[in-house]
Amino acid sequence: MSDTPAQPTAGDAFAEAKEMEISQELATDEIPETDILFECPHCGKSLSIDPRGAGLVIRCTQCHEPVTVPIPDGMELEDFDATPEELSLQLLHARQTVSKLQERLSALEAEAEQLRAFRDETMRRAADREDAMASFRKAVRRALEAQSDAQRDLQDVAAAMDVALGLPPTP
Ligand SMILES: [Zn+2]
Repeated sequence: MSDTPAQPTAGDAFAEAKEMEISQELATDEIPETDILFECPHCGKSLSIDPRGAGLVIRCTQCHEPVTVPIPDGMELEDFDATPEELSLQLLHARQTVSKLQERLSALEAEAEQLRAFRDETMRRAADREDAMASFRKAVRRALEAQSDAQRDLQDVAAAMDVALGLPPTP
């Protein structure tokens, strides 16, 4: 179990930036008709938020409780236009993701390189082993040939002895 607190993400920074922006907008009196209108679930205060705030958590201007801005029916979060700030935050987030993926890729490449080295080493050893086996088989064959030569010689010697002793030839 780890007690490490969660690191703030680009998404958190994005939400924070949005919250500040929206809070500033809330300070103005005029309410554009595109705004999302809803009531604070804690104190009932009527709130109006720029549509880009949909789905984000803001603080109620009256009771300061955290409130999730509702997403209007039929709209997806992706439908909201991104400001340059949002885009640069998304870009930062994307870069962080790419950086993490690159680290992971480097680690995987290092691992693959080790596996390749291991495979080459294993194949080299297998080749060595094959060479050794071939030498061994050759040595065994030579030993068997020598043995049969010796047997033949022994038979010749035995036959010569039989002849010398005047015995009938061995069948
Ligand atoms: Zn409230």
